[in-house]
Amino acid sequence: ASQNPDQPEFNQAVTEVLESLRPVIEQNEERYRKEALLERLTTPDRQILFRVSWVDDKGQTQVNNAYRVQFNNAIGPYKGGLRLHPSVTLSIIKFLGFEQIFKNSLTGLPIGGGKGGSDFDPKGKSDREIMAFCQAFMTELYKHIGADVDVPAGDIGTGGREIGYLYGQYKRLTGRYEGVLTGKGLTFGGSLARTEATGYGLLYLTDELLKAHGKSLEGKTVTVSGAGNVAIYAIEKAEQLGGKVVTCSDSTGWIYDPDGIDVELLKEVKEVKRVRLTEYKKARPNAEYNEGRGVWSVKSDVALPCATQNELNLDDAKKLVSNGVIAVCEGANMPTTLEATNYLQEQGVLFVPGKASNAGGVAVSALEMSQNSERLSWTFEEVDQKLKDIMTNIYQKHQPGRKRIRSRR
Ligand code: NDP
Repeated sequence: ASQNPDQPEFNQAVTEVLESLRPVIEQNEERYRKEALLERLTTPDRQILFRVSWVDDKGQTQVNNAYRVQFNNAIGPYKGGLRLHPSVTLSIIKFLGFEQIFKNSLTGLPIGGGKGGSDFDPKGKSDREIMAFCQAFMTELYKHIGADVDVPAGDIGTGGREIGYLYGQYKRLTGRYEGVLTGKGLTFGGSLARTEATGYGLLYLTDELLKAHGKSLEGKTVTVSGAGNVAIYAIEKAEQLGGKVVTCSDSTGWIYDPDGIDVELLKEVKEVKRVRLTEYKKARPNAEYNEGRGVWSVKSDVALPCATQNELNLDDAKKLVSNGVIAVCEGANMPTTLEATNYLQEQGVLFVPGKASNAGGVAVSALEMSQNSERLSWTFEEVDQKLKDIMTNIYQKHQPGRKRIRSRR
């Protein structure tokens, strides 16, 4: 933290990992010091900071800050998404890139860790403005990436539409048709089940966790935050596995639906119309819409934070525990604060950090890379089965309780 006083999110992510590694580090202190292993682990290989200039629909030139942090390629090409959100800073991108190293290695697939993004705000922008931004962004980014070098993907604010614009610009600039991005459309090299992968994977792991403790999702009440890619497919799979999901949220408010979230309606509102959750409420008379945040005040057995970092704090954790929560599994990256994580674990709540529980997205991205390399497409069932195997494997090899990867924030 003393080296990066202005990077609170990055320091938080490093503290969490180093705390959990403490016993290993203490056993091998001399080697860690002599070979500067921790300094090497926590310093990115490369940080690329650049300007993106683009022209909006009024003819006005806009300027954004953009980043690609190539953290570590010890086991494969740098891999990690691109976040487009006004809150993006170097600290956020470094925390995400750092976490990506461990998450990617947990999948068992040959991918290193990286992350990127920009403080560009996609909200309220026309398709043409999104395209103009993405093309300008790629006009610098293409110099630093490649199918065997660094393979970006989606994240908050970057979905299939944005990846399409980015890929088109990459092809235009380089003339190369290669697996340089993942999360691509199915007609130009995307993988079936990539859209569903993070949410589905989160539920495969949660299911495995509950089964190992003699429980199941059947009949359980589930609270989910977020209403984006991860949240939507987490809700879909939780419902398929017999759970009743009663909440979702976006950056302005949240829904409580006592009849269970209607996931097809949620997709229509968020994926097709791209509007606020007030539109969901209009179509569901029994549902409540509340401004602000509040998902964690709802009684549930299983809580799945799927929106953003530090969205579940100590007060939220206390509320969840007093309402009898049995498991908290992170769909987003670092959604639970350090204090909340410690509290949940002290109270005996089953807790799985995002580095393990949301690894399904990047795992299927790596499967997309494999399909691109062999110039083949696998079926939905084939990819989904591999995803299930990877998530089960992550849980079984690294169960909470086996101190090796357990998050001791
Ligand atoms: P999306 O952009 O699709 O959705 C994000 C959701 O969270 C939206 O509902 C958004 O609200 C809400 N949200 C975003 N920022 C804030 C904020 N500051 N305060 C409150 N709500 C917010 O992103 P994803 O679903 O892809 O990502 C969600 C999380 O999962 C992130 O932490 C991401 O890093 C992580 N993740 C994603 C993976 C993937 O494959 N997509 C893989 C692994 C992790 P609104 O609708 O108003 O914008």
